[in-house]
Amino acid sequence: MIPTYTVRQFKDTFISTKTKKQPFDDKVLQTVKNIMEDIRTRGDEALQEYTEKFDGYSGDKWEVTKEERKAAWKEVSPEVIESLERAAANIKSFHSKQLQQSRIMEMTDDIISGQLYRPIERAGIYVPGGKASYPSTVLMNAIPANLAGVQEIIMVTPVRGGDSIPPVLSVAADIAGVNKIYKLGGSQAVAALAYGTDKIPSVDKIVGPGNAYVAAAKSLVFGDVGIDMIAGPSEVAIIADETANSTFIAADLIAQAEHDERARSFLFTTSKELIDETLVELEKQCSELPRKDIAEVSLTNEGAIVLVDSVEEAFALVNALAPEHLEIQVENALQHLSKVKNAGSVFIGHYTPEAVGDYFAGPNHVLPTVGTARFSSGLSVDDFVKKTTYLYYSEKALRNAAPYVETLATKEELDGHARAVKVRLEL
Ligand code: NAD
Repeated sequence: MIPTYTVRQFKDTFISTKTKKQPFDDKVLQTVKNIMEDIRTRGDEALQEYTEKFDGYSGDKWEVTKEERKAAWKEVSPEVIESLERAAANIKSFHSKQLQQSRIMEMTDDIISGQLYRPIERAGIYVPGGKASYPSTVLMNAIPANLAGVQEIIMVTPVRGGDSIPPVLSVAADIAGVNKIYKLGGSQAVAALAYGTDKIPSVDKIVGPGNAYVAAAKSLVFGDVGIDMIAGPSEVAIIADETANSTFIAADLIAQAEHDERARSFLFTTSKELIDETLVELEKQCSELPRKDIAEVSLTNEGAIVLVDSVEEAFALVNALAPEHLEIQVENALQHLSKVKNAGSVFIGHYTPEAVGDYFAGPNHVLPTVGTARFSSGLSVDDFVKKTTYLYYSEKALRNAAPYVETLATKEELDGHARAVKVRLEL
């Protein structure tokens, strides 16, 4: 079911910029442009039409009321609530260590400089809801925002049939400190958050994963508001040697593949035997999977197994690929961490499946995809913070700096800049 590739074939198919997957195509982009323009010009009326068309909800009571949020707690089992609370505690603990204080870089009698850390005021959180509901995504997005000190966290998520969102999302939102929830999805929700309508407040930044329509919408609003990233299909790369367990490997490849048909699952291994065993395991485990149809399409069309000469060769491929998730299932796995240059999040050893990080352990699961881990990072407290630098100079300090500033300003032919210094010292 999952094809095997040589190293050369893998590079040509999955790493070459010519064959690189884009998060969305031109057709999706055009559809989204039209929807977003419509929301900007017709506001809530257009929002209602698209929400009815795509999500089947024809009403305009988009905000989940306090009463509905309270009632949701009675509809979620105690085990789920406990799991959410424990996961939230781990995510909070991990992310709280990312917090930074405003700091002073220099402080003398004549010069003071530093950096202020200020939270963004309003954050919009997109929680996908088209094909499945993701309470874990609520926690992963809202907890860092909350820790950063964002004043208002506004969550949007589409209904999936009926006229309400799954109660578990509402409970997760309460646990994570979400202020408002709106039953809205897709590019129309992103446009409403970016530009505001009579009913939906505009935000300063929009974060969170979503399908191609959501990704296209985020790319279009970037600049008017901030965004965290443009998410493409989810990916895992597993590096394994002969100490790896094929049952574990197959389970992890499938866990990735069941996300959606475009998800990518890759295995790089030094062991021919492990490949044979994994192929058998994949058949077996897939046959028992409720989301078998999705996983099989994903593994067949987007998956790959590559026999490599050495673990070093596997790392070279992985660093060129820059996968969203990397699992290292080799002997003394921790010792290989220093070889990682490009990856969103790394899972080390035979007993650290990506799934434990997806839900529970603490690191964020909103991560850079389609090679963007080469230059960007997963969601963190930093995404909700602005860093404003500041500077104080006394007259004496300015006098000392003046010749250099004037020389550089004159060199750039910006006499006004030179004059801004000169006039102060000629008094
Ligand atoms: P979604 O909420 O992203 O998309 C649903 C919305 O898409 C609908 O509300 C609708 O407005 C819009 N839409 C659907 N068809 C459309 C069309 N033909 N024209 C215009 N708009 C249309 O939910 P989803 O579809 O389930 O996608 C969720 C994605 O997010 C999946 O790929 C999943 O794997 C991913 N995900 C990623 C993470 C992560 O952290 N990386 C977490 C959870 C989910």
